[in-house]
Amino acid sequence: MADKRKFYIDGAWVNPAKAHDLEVIDPATEDAIAVISLGDRADTDRAVAAAKAAFPAWSRTPPAERLAYAEKILAIYKRRAAEMAAAITDEMGAPQDMALAAQTGVGIYHIENFITAFKEFEFVRPLGPHAPTSMVSWEPIGVVGLITPWNWPMNQVTLKVLPAILAGNTAVLKPSEIAPLSSMLFAEIVHEAGVPKGVFNLVNGDGAGVGTQLSTHPDVEMISFTGSTRAGIAITKAAADSLKKVALELGGKGANLIFADADAKAVERGTRHCFYNSGQSCNAPTRMLVERSAYDAAVETAARVARETAVATGHQAGNHIGPVVSKVQWDKIQGLIQKGIDEGARLVAGGTGLPEGVNRGYFVRPTVFADVTNEMTVARQEIFGPVLSIIPFDTEEEAVAIANDTVYGLTNYVQSQNGERRNRLARQLRAGMIEMNGEALGRGSPFGGVKASGRAREGGVCGLEEFMDSKQISAWSV
Ligand code: NAD
Repeated sequence: MADKRKFYIDGAWVNPAKAHDLEVIDPATEDAIAVISLGDRADTDRAVAAAKAAFPAWSRTPPAERLAYAEKILAIYKRRAAEMAAAITDEMGAPQDMALAAQTGVGIYHIENFITAFKEFEFVRPLGPHAPTSMVSWEPIGVVGLITPWNWPMNQVTLKVLPAILAGNTAVLKPSEIAPLSSMLFAEIVHEAGVPKGVFNLVNGDGAGVGTQLSTHPDVEMISFTGSTRAGIAITKAAADSLKKVALELGGKGANLIFADADAKAVERGTRHCFYNSGQSCNAPTRMLVERSAYDAAVETAARVARETAVATGHQAGNHIGPVVSKVQWDKIQGLIQKGIDEGARLVAGGTGLPEGVNRGYFVRPTVFADVTNEMTVARQEIFGPVLSIIPFDTEEEAVAIANDTVYGLTNYVQSQNGERRNRLARQLRAGMIEMNGEALGRGSPFGGVKASGRAREGGVCGLEEFMDSKQISAWSV
């Protein structure tokens, strides 16, 4: 079992102040594969102190110098991509091809987009032609605490660490204690890139410990958090006394509105998207809303896709889905599938229990419920497993009402060949992102939601501004 008990603080791997061991479990085998330490207050204080000491010099480095470090991080990250993918497969179960192309690849995508945005970024710019000596200056915030989840580990780490340090902040990262190995490798990459000591620090720990210590720390000026809505609320409250800036990326319950004039692949695409990453994506289209005339065919297609979706260990090649991350998640998903059955949804594929022929690992059967109403638990709660709920609708107005009837507002989806309808719906749906007809959002488009999905905007130029304060200046000498 790998010994990963050190923290990366002030440019070096250091021993924890006290021993609090936690085993990292491979969800495909249920075996312990590594042991980490959960940090103590002394470890958090040490990391924050290192970041605080590094801030004055780092925040004054010329932008070109910080850009050069980001480019070095990118080059090393690309060189070590296979190692990164293996760490992600081990810690959270993503199948190896997907772990390399998507889980690791998305980190490359974000770093490249930040580099592009940063090259064009004007730190000091005029307010407008009406006030030529009034300037807006974009300034780093200070020491930032970064708290990340396990489901897309490098997606979240690159969306936070790169803009934080490019903006001139110094950072303390607390990755998920369930999937810390990829972040520890990321710390090695930052170290290899030669980023000055104290600029980036990593302390492992849980939410009650290091997570809360960062959220309440008087020397931490901002918390950027991705994870559950429950933890987002706890962090907001914990951060209130020290009036930190808090940026939250939380859960979702995405609606996918499929009209009778949708393209022929819409239902299959939506079902596969829901099951992708074993359903463990905050932007998963988990509520499929289908126009009545296309409904029966859609249910049939979704059930077929579920039956065709292979479930297997991430340690083998192929385009199957892997296990879910932990026993806790597996139990939660089983309970919600049972709840769907008990509340009267029609189970058309999958169900409770392990997939056929599997007797260990946290594998879930790809599951489809039809005839779901939006009041049922499976339509209201984020399940975070491969479980699709299909709901029929008769009119566009009804579809919008169902889609918006949720506490969440991260991503909604629309499938229709009618451009006027798409544009109308894009404005009416309450969410941070609207993806239509299977077309991805453009490079550098910010990721984020509204309502209980949190209101952070991560990625590209908006993601850089998220880690800065704007300062207003008069009588600028031009
Ligand atoms: P989680 O909230 O349990 O944990 C996320 C991180 O927060 C972990 O590092 C954890 O240790 C820490 N944490 C937990 N409680 C804390 C507290 N009280 N104070 C400080 N830190 C605390 O979530 P998870 O189970 O790891 O991740 C799944 C959740 O994340 C899902 O709800 C999912 O939708 C959400 N998510 C959202 C996005 C997004 O961008 N909107 C992206 C990925 C995941």
